[in-house]
Amino acid sequence: MTTDTFIGLGSNLKDPAAQLARAVSGLAALPDTVLIAQSAFYASRPVGPQDQPDFVNGAVWLRTSLPAHQLLDQLQAIEQAHGRERLRHWGPRTLDLDILLYGDQILDDERLTIPHRELRTRDFALQPLLDLKADLTLPDGTPIAELRSQCPDNGLRKLPPADYP
Ligand code: AMP
Repeated sequence: MTTDTFIGLGSNLKDPAAQLARAVSGLAALPDTVLIAQSAFYASRPVGPQDQPDFVNGAVWLRTSLPAHQLLDQLQAIEQAHGRERLRHWGPRTLDLDILLYGDQILDDERLTIPHRELRTRDFALQPLLDLKADLTLPDGTPIAELRSQCPDNGLRKLPPADYP
């Protein structure tokens, strides 16, 4: 059995667009997983401390037979392989990979909250999801497009393809 899952990617250190492009390659190579599509990349102002570089964010659509917790293990291995640095909460990081949606599952345990805890209010996570699937919904049926339209403007800027590998 396979599940369609949507992974959010973010970076604001060490050539963020290149970090994201490498992460997409890593995600496409995961076992028992197929990359269906990848979104454009977006630049956004940091959440939390403002004395750090802008973030680059994107999302991918994967079809996988990995259970959610095994998928998280794989994402964390990719983060570590990128030499993830995280100096403080909401501070700069080389690579952040989040499971935004995993089929229509709702999970909340010590390792995983799905849908992702901050998905509803973050334009840099919602907009890439819309790129991938305009009619995507939360498990409760709420359209991602509706959440996106209610998001405060945080200066999200779509990067031209020439700006990423
Ligand atoms: P952060 O680096 O701030 O993204 O937080 C990483 C922690 O969030 C990890 O230890 C995960 O166990 C936890 N986590 C909870 N829900 C999720 C999710 N949906 N995707 C990725 N990590 C998650």
